[in-house]
Amino acid sequence: MARYTGPSCRLCRREGQKLYLKGDRCYSDKCALDRRQSAPGQHGSRRVKLSGYGTQLREKQKVKRYYGLIEGQFREIFEKASNQNGIVGENFLRLLELRFDNIVYRLGFATSRKEARQLVNHGHFNLNGKKADIPSMTLKVGDVVEVRDKSKSSPKFKEIAEKAQTTPKWVSSDFEKLIGKVEALPLREDIDLPIEEHLIIELYSK
Ligand code: SF4
Repeated sequence: MARYTGPSCRLCRREGQKLYLKGDRCYSDKCALDRRQSAPGQHGSRRVKLSGYGTQLREKQKVKRYYGLIEGQFREIFEKASNQNGIVGENFLRLLELRFDNIVYRLGFATSRKEARQLVNHGHFNLNGKKADIPSMTLKVGDVVEVRDKSKSSPKFKEIAEKAQTTPKWVSSDFEKLIGKVEALPLREDIDLPIEEHLIIELYSK
């Protein structure tokens, strides 16, 4: 299935909650969901009560949208998580968080995961000193992500350096040097998204 290229805000309206897909706009009074709470479409104002399957499906769609993944990528990460030792749901969320594009977002070098993916694709980062432009790469503890020298002077990264956001505790960023590091594996409590991963496990276990 192709990647969704329509309006991001429509996805939030579909899920009935903020998915934070548009960076700064999501935190402003311009957020479409804050202004209009109905689902998209002609009959959007009628929310139906979901079956068990429907609830599981919506949870999966929501998490896919958080991370901007298509079904094949999402399922592949789930299979990988299922084959690891430990709790499948936690493995799954950890693998999602360790994607290169998500790490760039968590480091504060992009305002959304979508923007992070674009910046990675366009070759703005080094990983451990070498150019890396594959958003789906899985990073590990100790990996160092740096904005490439030629990109540091761009208006985009100057703006990001000035903002110097707070990062989650499992990563660290130096906004002056535009360099960041994966300090630890993210624990379940570090992942601040409202996700009920057991619903996805139940869905994929059918
Ligand atoms: Fe979703 Fe609001 Fe951001 Fe649009 S602005 S993507 S509705 S959170």
